[in-house]
Amino acid sequence: MYLKSIEMIGFKSFADRTKLEFEPGLIAIVGPNGCGKSNVSDAIRWVLGEQRPTALRGAKMLDVIFSGTDARKPLGMAEVSITFADCEGALATEFNEVTVTRRVFRTGEGEYFINKTPCRLRDIHRLFMGTGIGTTSYSVMAQGQIDAILSSKPEDRRVIFEEAAGITKFKADRKEAMRKLEQTEANLLRLADVIREVKRQIGSLQRQAGKAQRYKELRAELRGLDLFLTRRRLAALDVRLRELDAAIGELTRQDADGQARIASAEQACAAIHAAILENERSTGAATEAAAQDDSNLQHAHEMIRVSEQ
Ligand code: ATP
Ligand code: MG
Repeated sequence: MYLKSIEMIGFKSFADRTKLEFEPGLIAIVGPNGCGKSNVSDAIRWVLGEQRPTALRGAKMLDVIFSGTDARKPLGMAEVSITFADCEGALATEFNEVTVTRRVFRTGEGEYFINKTPCRLRDIHRLFMGTGIGTTSYSVMAQGQIDAILSSKPEDRRVIFEEAAGITKFKADRKEAMRKLEQTEANLLRLADVIREVKRQIGSLQRQAGKAQRYKELRAELRGLDLFLTRRRLAALDVRLRELDAAIGELTRQDADGQARIASAEQACAAIHAAILENERSTGAATEAAAQDDSNLQHAHEMIRVSEQ
């Protein structure tokens, strides 16, 4: 794997799009003071995810954006892309070329890309882990840093040797695994709490279930008793109904008898009426005859008196 090219837009002194192509075996950049040599190495550090402004020789992170000159206005964005070639073996990827891009805006927003696909800084760290490429590794050394490394504490030096030996990746994996283990342990603890709580709830639920069962049994019993009582009431009503039916039959019979008697009484009544009428008629005739006899008598009396006179 080798550094193939680096492209900068708006990064430090590179206001215009600047692309530098490198061939395998490049060992130095030379140029007059202040021409931007260190800015190129800053760009490499920055695109690999450097977060410390001091490591980029600035006071704050946004200092990496082109800040303008007498003749040119400042820019609103800085972008650096770095391309490595022959990556298949070293980066465990199927791509021959891998391009990492970092972009930052004056608003403070930042973005990272691997082969133009947005990604997290973590992905870039993982990609280069164990290859010696990265912000904390030995591939980018600032002026005076060699001295610092040689005179630093053995523990600090160890980091560099570990990266060179390619075990950083495994250490990172181990750290990640330990973190997961810790998380799992915490989860287990939480699970134990949950189990305890659930056990407590089981007791109360069992009591409730017992009550519900008892309620169901009592309700079934009540239903049975209800049915029994209703059946008995029905039977009693049936008996009463039959009695009433019999009474109605008897009364109907008595009614018919009464009707017959009324009819014969009415007949007798009519005969009596007829007899009364007959009597009245004969009484009328007798009264008339009596009146006739009366006047005849009076006439006879008159005749007698006249004859006597
Ligand atoms: P030396 O040989 O002295 O180490 P050098 O080639 O490393 O010099 P650099 O330090 O890379 O030079 O470049 C410095 C130049 O970059 C300065 O002229 C400085 O004004 C310019 N510069 C740095 N940051 C910015 C920025 N944000 N905007 C515009 N110009 C910048
Ligand atoms: Mg310099």
